[in-house]
Parts: sequence; structure tokens; C-alpha cells
Amino acid sequence: MAGAVLLLLAGGLLSWYVGSLQRASLLDEIELKARQELDLYVSHLTGQLDRFAYLAPLLGDDFRLQSLLIAPNNVSQQDQVNRFLKHVATIAGALDVYLMDANGVTLAASNWQDELTFVGRNFSFRPYFSEAMQGRPGRYYALGTTSGRRGYYFSYPVGDVGKPLGVVVVKIDIDTLENAWRNKGTELIVTDPDGVIFVATRPEWRYRTLRPLQADVVARIRESRRYPVAELTPLHYELVKHLPSGVRELRVGEARGAGYIARAAEMPDAGWRVELLVSQEVIAPQVWQTRLFTMSMLMLLMTAVWLYAGRRRQQREREAERREAMQEALVELEDRVDRRTSDLTEANRLLRVEIENHERTQDELIQAAKLAALGQMAAGINHELNQPLAAIRTYADNARTYVTRENLEQAAWNLQQISELTQRMAQISGQLKVFSRKTTGQRIRVSLSACLDGALRIVRTRIDQASVELILDLPEQELFVAADMVQLEQVLVNLIGNACNALEGCPDKRIHVSARSDGDWVRVEVADNGPGIPSDHLQRIFDPFFTTSENGLGLGLSISHTIAQRLGASLTASNAAQGGAVFVLTLAAWR
Ligand code: ADP
Repeated sequence: MAGAVLLLLAGGLLSWYVGSLQRASLLDEIELKARQELDLYVSHLTGQLDRFAYLAPLLGDDFRLQSLLIAPNNVSQQDQVNRFLKHVATIAGALDVYLMDANGVTLAASNWQDELTFVGRNFSFRPYFSEAMQGRPGRYYALGTTSGRRGYYFSYPVGDVGKPLGVVVVKIDIDTLENAWRNKGTELIVTDPDGVIFVATRPEWRYRTLRPLQADVVARIRESRRYPVAELTPLHYELVKHLPSGVRELRVGEARGAGYIARAAEMPDAGWRVELLVSQEVIAPQVWQTRLFTMSMLMLLMTAVWLYAGRRRQQREREAERREAMQEALVELEDRVDRRTSDLTEANRLLRVEIENHERTQDELIQAAKLAALGQMAAGINHELNQPLAAIRTYADNARTYVTRENLEQAAWNLQQISELTQRMAQISGQLKVFSRKTTGQRIRVSLSACLDGALRIVRTRIDQASVELILDLPEQELFVAADMVQLEQVLVNLIGNACNALEGCPDKRIHVSARSDGDWVRVEVADNGPGIPSDHLQRIFDPFFTTSENGLGLGLSISHTIAQRLGASLTASNAAQGGAVFVLTLAAWR
């Protein structure tokens, strides 16, 4: 609030100052104009008067006038002089030309024919008469006593200047002097040495004085009958101040009001003072207009600045709000991220638990599958073990018989056979032990052929029983893969066992097992010439518990697939063009 008031005040002051500057420049302008106009008017006035200055001295020398003065009663002479003076007045453009004798009585005049003629009248009271009678040219301004018109008188002694016979006077009309002046807003006054205004563009100022007159001055004026009709009251003429360059500021005519800028010039010849008054009325409105304009521009500017500042403040506030909101959003976001992170960590943990469970389940499944396979193999194993057992019994019987007959050599041979057979049985049981064992699943360097041998040892009986022709196609150079021996064996057992199952009922049974090195990989193919896999089963054979056989569990392939994945290998199934299923196990080669 205080700031606004201060600003307004400062604005006001500035406007005031600008107005004052303009006022000064306007004053300068007016002053220049006043000087020019005044010079012009003064020279015009001087010219007007000078035009007639020679006339009186010229007439003073005229013999006709002198003759009349010498013989004033000569009527014909008077008539002649009257006509001559009228003639001169007409030609020169003077108001009146007249001749007075040494007593001031008019002997002849240009207006001799007029009703109010000067002839016979005495003007000795006029100063110009006495002046001329003393041998000097006279000049005088006065209101005509007869005509009531303002006139200017030039007088001159007639005859000898040292001892004049009379006085000749040329009177010119100066009523028209003001008429030449009709400039709007500019007034003109001409004052006599007493300070009486006798020429004024404002009629009401005429015959007013610039200052109150002393009683003796008033008496003198009255005596000279200069202004017989005028009251000669003082005019309000107040000096407000002196301005630089000789100009004054005045208040004329009325105490209030705009006042004038005045410039004066002296006319020493005539004893006049001419003053030009330029109304200040034109200045004040312009100055105020400028001040108002400046003030309104300043106000406009201030309003604009104020609005702009407001806008900026609003913007800053909005910006701060936005930043705050963003900060809040950020905190909220961080919160959410924290929450989500902890959720995710929890989910991760659960997932890990799940995976562990899953792995455990898979391990269990694998184990279960192994047990299932064991069950399936039971028959084969039974056969495998029963056969040597029967043979052992026979060899034992034989041995006992040979011991009784004391044929020790034969007995020893039979015992040797028993020993060999038990060794073979131990081998079979050892194999089973390996198969039922839980493995770590660690990948180590494994010989593919050794692994295949192990697998075949388990499924050999089944192959033989089913009269399947097994074709092995391995490269000469031994192949090593990165795998777990037991698990790889299990996969191979499953694949070969499945092939045996599929070949059941086929007239010509063949299983083709091949292996090839393929860059970083080793491809093992187990193909048979059985019925193959129906296309709608292809997608599902690796699913757990998918089976088409009555005694099957549907776990073999799913376990094999899982094992392959764990070993970083892959297991795929397809049908061969010539018929039969093809299983491809792609293992990582050992480096
Ligand atoms: P199971 O042998 O107990 O049925 P698997 O998972 O080993 O379980 O096999 C799933 C199914 O895949 C089998 O039931 C069979 O239909 C099909 N299958 C597997 N191997 C072959 C093959 N060599 N030829 C044709 N079908 C096969």
C-alpha cells in the first residue's frame, strides 16, 4: 500500500516535472514569437509616425503660411491657405493640418469647411504649441478635444525658428493603430510616459493607467486636456515574476486568470512604451495535458508492471505447487517402488521356494520313474538272475557228484563256473544299485559309449526277448559329453525301452542308435521302425502321465525331458519319413 502511494507520488512528481519542462519550452517559443511580433509592430508604428515627421517642418517654411501670419486678416490669403492645407492633408493622408498664430489661435485649417472646424479656436494649452513656439519641433499624443478621436500631433515653428510667427500642426489619426493588430491570444498596449494606456487591443483597457497617478500628474494631464473624457483609473497590472531573457509574467485586467507573458519595447522618439502580452491560456491547458498524459502513461506502465509482477508471482507459486506435487508424487512413487520391491522380493522368495519344491518334486518323480523302471525291469532281472542261479545249482550239483567220485578236476571246473556266474550276478546287482542311486546331477566328463554300454546292459534282456535288432552307429573316435552318467543312462534306457515297447507286434523290429559330433554339440539319435507317434500325440508325449500303454506310467519321456534340460541338453521327438519314431538327444560336447 505504502509502496503504491509512493509510486503514485513519484509518478505525480515526474509528470509535474515533464509538464514544467514543456512549459519552459512553450515559454521559450512564446518569447521568441513575442519578440518577433513586437519588433514588427514597433517598426510598423515608428514607420507610421515617421511618414509624417517631415511634413510640419516643410510647411513651416512655406511663404503662404508666413504671409497669413503676417497679415492674419487677409481673408483671401486665409482662404488660399485653408485650401492649401486641405490639399496637403488629403495628399499626405493626415487627419488635420492647421496653422496657429503666436497666441495659439488657429488661423487656417484643412477642416475649415467642417462644422467643428479648428479655425478660430485656441490650442495654446497643448504642449506641442509651446514646444514649437520655443523653436523646437513638437510631438504630442492626445485625444482630440473637438473630434474625440485619438491623434498624434507634429508641430513646427513657422518662419524664423529663433522667433516663430506661429505654429503649423499636422495631426494624424491613430485610432486605426490597434486595428492592424488582430492576433488571437495576444494583446498590445501602448502607454505614454505617465503610464496611461492610450492604445490597447482591448477597448476596456484604454485610458487606464498602469499605476495609480500622483495628484499633480493628474492635474497636469487635465490641464493639457490630453484625455478629457477619460477617468484614468488604474488597471489591474500585476507583475507575477521576472522570467529569464527579459520577459515578465503579468496578470493584467483581472486578479485571477491565466495571465500573460509580456515583452516591452521603448519608442524614445514618441516617448511611448509598447508592450506585447501573450496569453498564458494556451500554455496551461497544454502543460496540463502533458502532465495528465504523462501521468496516465505512467499509471498504464505501473499497471502493466503490476500485472506482470502478479503474473510472475502466480507463475512462481504455481511452479512451487507443481514442484511440491512432483516431490509428493516422487515420495509416493518411491513408496510404491519400495512396496513393489518388497512384494517382488517376497514373490521371488516364494518362487524360489516353489522352484525348490518343484525340483524336489522332479527329483522325486525321477526317483519314482527309476523305481517304475526298476519294477518293469524286475522281470528281466528275474530272468537274468534266475538263469545263473539255476546254472549255479546245476554246477554245484555237478561239483558235489565229481567230489564224491573224487574227480577233482571236473569238480574244480564246475566250481570255477559257479564263481564266474556269481561274478556276473554281482555285476547285474551292482548295475541296479547304480540305477536306484540318487545322483547329484553334476555335469562331468562322460564317455558316450560307456554310458550307452551301461544302458544297454539294463535293457539288453528286453531287446533280446523281443527279438529286436539293435544297430549301433558310433564314430570311431570316442565322444565325450558334459553330463551326469547315471541320468544320461536313464534317458537312454527310457528311449530304447520305449522303442522296444513301440515295436511290439511288428514283424521286423529294428532299433537304430547313432551319435554324431556337431560342433559344440553331440547328437544322439534313437530311431525305430515302429508305428511312429500320431501327430496329435507329438505335443503331449513329454507331458507327465501321458501314456498309450496299459502298464505305462507316462513318466519316462517327461523325466527324460527334464533330465535333458537340467544337463543343458535338449530332447525332441519326430517321425521319420520312412516310418517309425525318431528321438534326438542333443548334448553339450565336453571341452
Ligand atoms: P510310457 O512308456 O510309460 O507310456 P513314456 O513317457 O515313456 O511313458 O511314453 C509316453 C508315450 O509316448 C508312450 O505311451 C507312447 O505312446 C509314446 N511313445 C514313446 N516312445 C515311442 C516310440 N518309440 N514309438 C511310438 N510311440 C512312442
